[in-house]
Amino acid sequence: MKKIAVIVGHNSKYQGAMGNLGVSEFVLNTAIANVLEAHFRDSEYKIKVFHRLPVKSYTKQMKDLSKRVNKYDPIVAMSLHFNASASKATGHEVLYLKGSKKGLKYAKRLDESFDKHLSNRDRNLKPIKGRNERGGQLFFRIVAPVILAEPFFSNEEAEILNKNFNNLIEAYIEFIESI
Ligand SMILES: [Zn+2]
Repeated sequence: MKKIAVIVGHNSKYQGAMGNLGVSEFVLNTAIANVLEAHFRDSEYKIKVFHRLPVKSYTKQMKDLSKRVNKYDPIVAMSLHFNASASKATGHEVLYLKGSKKGLKYAKRLDESFDKHLSNRDRNLKPIKGRNERGGQLFFRIVAPVILAEPFFSNEEAEILNKNFNNLIEAYIEFIESI
């Protein structure tokens, strides 16, 4: 059995970025995580969905989350997001912890899967260097290799969800099947 942790970015109270279709990061990625969990039920992959506490303190959220994820002890932890943008930025990218060999390996695979299934720009991989960087604690507190998915920007949400939603799901499925 291959255990994968799928972490929904943000929380029910502070839902992260809002896409131009009116669906927040939290709502969209909860749906995606649930689809992945259902897809892999009764397979060799055991997907466990993790949500963050609906509190304001990022450190408190990360302490609670990492405790639960570390107890689950997955092969890899994947956090689901999408990028916020004030401008017209577009594309997909995957974050990993600089220096983590396994993190880099999984980030590459997920990016390749995005390249294949999404038609938006390939922004490639983005290394996280310090725990004080935005989202940094996630990478330092979780023992398993961590990757963070940013498949599109908020101003691309309508395009992605109206036309390519299944492709986005397929990208995640194919990535998991490569583990
Ligand atoms: Zn986010």
